[in-house]
Amino acid sequence: MNQPLTESELDAIIRRATTLHDALAAHTYPNGGTLRCEKCKFQKTFTQQDAARFFKTGWPQHHGTTMMAEAAQISPKQ
Ligand SMILES: [Zn+2]
Repeated sequence: MNQPLTESELDAIIRRATTLHDALAAHTYPNGGTLRCEKCKFQKTFTQQDAARFFKTGWPQHHGTTMMAEAAQISPKQ
C-alpha cells in the first residue's frame, strides 16, 4: 500500500515547494518592501526575490528580533 516515492515524484514535490515560495513572494511582496528593526529603527529595502528567499530560509534578524516587513506600495500613476 505505502509505496516509497519514486525519484520523479520526489522531484515534483520539491519543484512545487520551490515554486510555492516564489508564488507567495510574488503575491505578498510584488514590489518588494521594507524591513524594519523595532529596536533601533534600522530600515532596509528588499526585493520580491529577497522575499522568496526569506520565506524559504527565514526572515532577517536585527538586535536579536525578527525584522518587521512592510510591503512596498505600487507607486501611484503620475
Ligand atoms: Zn536593530
